[in-house]
Amino acid sequence: MAPSKPRSVIRQLCHWGPIVALSLIGVVVVSATYSSIQLYSLPSVKYIKKFNFFTMYLNLWLILYSYFKAFGGPGFVPIKWKPSNEADKEYLQYCDICQAYKAPRSHHCSSCGRCVLKMDHHCPWINCCVGHRNQNPFIAFLFFLPVGCIYATILNSNFLYRLFSYEFRGRAQSLLLPINSYTIMLTISGIAFSLGAALGVCILLYVQLSSVLSNRTQIEDWICEKAATRRRNNQNLKPFVYPYDLGRSKNWKQVIRCSFTPVGDGIYWPVVKGCNQYSFTIEQMAQKVEKKKRGVDCKVTRDFNGSCLKTLVSYGPLVFICTPCLEPSIPISKNDIITITRFRKRWVYGNKHIPQEEINEGKRVRGWIPRLCVLKENSTQLNKVSLPSSSLGKKDEDKATEKEAKTKTGSKDMEQPAAPRRRKDKNK
Ligand SMILES: [Zn+2]
Ligand SMILES: [Zn+2]
Repeated sequence: MAPSKPRSVIRQLCHWGPIVALSLIGVVVVSATYSSIQLYSLPSVKYIKKFNFFTMYLNLWLILYSYFKAFGGPGFVPIKWKPSNEADKEYLQYCDICQAYKAPRSHHCSSCGRCVLKMDHHCPWINCCVGHRNQNPFIAFLFFLPVGCIYATILNSNFLYRLFSYEFRGRAQSLLLPINSYTIMLTISGIAFSLGAALGVCILLYVQLSSVLSNRTQIEDWICEKAATRRRNNQNLKPFVYPYDLGRSKNWKQVIRCSFTPVGDGIYWPVVKGCNQYSFTIEQMAQKVEKKKRGVDCKVTRDFNGSCLKTLVSYGPLVFICTPCLEPSIPISKNDIITITRFRKRWVYGNKHIPQEEINEGKRVRGWIPRLCVLKENSTQLNKVSLPSSSLGKKDEDKATEKEAKTKTGSKDMEQPAAPRRRKDKNK
């Protein structure tokens, strides 16, 4: 499978996420503009006339500017990228689809079809990932949007309040626009959308700001949690130090900049003392080895086409309600073989076995299926999956420890901090 080509702006816009987001912004702007124009006809509110439109449209411009900056994308690992030092390849995972090594902090996004630099999450509202290059404008968008929504709510509520307190009575002649049931519905919709968007976006903003201050993406949070679990289960493992947390101030300056231009190239990262460029990827690889070891091959006993309707009709409302939202479910047929690596009460996550030729092309089919698809004939094996993971196998553990030790005492190149390395590469 070849890596995806960059999408045009039009193609990126033709998706329910940007269409819904821009339509909601449109309704709020039209309703707030309508309310402002009507309020001007009242002598008691003329004081807002001078700066209202300026404030409103300046805020709209900031919202749209940051939105389309974020729309520009997170930046991808170059096709066929490999570390400058050949020996470093063993500390990195290889992506068959991008035909490149996964740079530290990058992950492959199946929706974008590429390995994303410092991937945080795939955002449907901008129809691309949030990562290294667009996290700053994305956060600016999350800040300006609630500000605009609250401003629009104040204008719309003000208009409705004065309308229902009869301040508009006898002014039909002086009004620039009519007042009827449609325009009242528009104003009420504007308030509802503004409040809903402001609340939802403020939560997202909080999550993003926490992520910036700790210099830890949502995916890295998850990996750190797994690192802690591994050490709870196996006391012999060396303590894990998250390498990218440089302190709140430095973390903030690394992402939040007025120019919206991120620091660094998204491949080499400054790390704390005692860690190196690959401290995190080594932990990630050890977790993958453990996950592979924990996987159980199961034979599928029931068909599943991956759709919500099929889930509800064939597997019942409880399975439907518990459908995992953040990762995809996959279609699967009776007698297929799947390696299950994660387990929930009603769903299991696994890799479907596919022909070797398709694997060579970089194809992989992995995701959630209802547990009932594999339950009956594999109940003993599934119970094994549900047990808490113990630790790495002796051989794998030795390998991981060996890599860890190697990077601590390793080559001169490995011990160099991020910034000098980047300069060295540029000079080449
Ligand atoms: Zn990739
Ligand atoms: Zn993506």
